[in-house]
Amino acid sequence: MYDFAYHKPASVADAVALLAGADDGKLVAGGMTLLPTLKQRLAQPSDLIDLGGVSGLSGIRREGDALVIGAMTTHGAVAASAEVKAAIPGLAELAGLIGDPQVRNRGTLGGSICNNDPAADYPGALVALGATVTTNQRTIPAEEFFTGMFETALEEGEIAQSVSFPIPEKSAYTKFRNPASRYAIVGAYVARTAAGVRVAITGAGPTVFRWKEAEAALSANFAPSAVEGLKAPATNLNSDIHASAEYRAHLVMVMTKRAVAEIA
Ligand SMILES: Cc1cc2nc3c(=O)[nH]c(=O)nc-3n(C[C@H](O)[C@H](O)[C@H](O)COP(=O)(O)OP(=O)(O)OC[C@H]3O[C@@H](n4cnc5c(N)ncnc54)[C@H](O)[C@@H]3O)c2cc1C
Repeated sequence: MYDFAYHKPASVADAVALLAGADDGKLVAGGMTLLPTLKQRLAQPSDLIDLGGVSGLSGIRREGDALVIGAMTTHGAVAASAEVKAAIPGLAELAGLIGDPQVRNRGTLGGSICNNDPAADYPGALVALGATVTTNQRTIPAEEFFTGMFETALEEGEIAQSVSFPIPEKSAYTKFRNPASRYAIVGAYVARTAAGVRVAITGAGPTVFRWKEAEAALSANFAPSAVEGLKAPATNLNSDIHASAEYRAHLVMVMTKRAVAEIA
């Protein structure tokens, strides 16, 4: 680990000012990804700005037909929330499948989406549910937020404050997980909403994507059999020591079918 200056601001405005004043400042939320990176000397920020003391960034509340979850809300809090379980049980289930208890008690919604690991679970829920991310500057639809592998639409100095999840009629998430880390080798989030069926796939490609072919098939017939004959194209899918692109393409169908079965 290299030397850095540590700051613990109490407001978003102070955090923004600290970022602007630093040579190479970095926000830290749960630290679950960032701290191992620092320990391995893969990054050398001049300043670490801890969001842990910023008020108003965590918590879960219902706002009309949506659930609004603060960026600093931990995965454990989302998994245990009676409000989330009642309104979007698939989202509570997803949060409960992330990592292990230690990771769930430190890792945050904001840290997960801003890091945008291709194998992270939350991006699937945001895209399938048509969520929006509110930052200190604007509101960004989920489909525009996740721009590439470990890349997001956030600009320099922009801080994610909360995510608004429209409440679907029904939704479910299933993943084929890495047995060691529990990250998604492939995860499928299926949502039935008043506007139609949405299927978002995580883990399979460089970043989360919608599987439009399955959405069309499920809109015509919402049953596991509707996706059975479909095959996701293996082009542009990840291929690594955990799974080939071909295998991931197969898992996309199987995970989607299981999520549909869970809902149906
Ligand atoms: C052993 C292990 C297993 C894991 N398993 C899973 C899994 O199964 N599924 C899964 O989805 N994830 C998994 N994770 C990831 C974990 O759940 C965290 O979500 C992730 O590490 C980042 O969240 P964090 O709060 O720790 O963010 P940090 O590590 O603190 O930050 C991550 C990045 O986001 C930036 N950032 C953080 N908050 C904000 C904000 N509000 N605005 C702007 N930028 C911000 C930081 O600057 C940094 O670049 C695992 C992690 C570990 C260590």
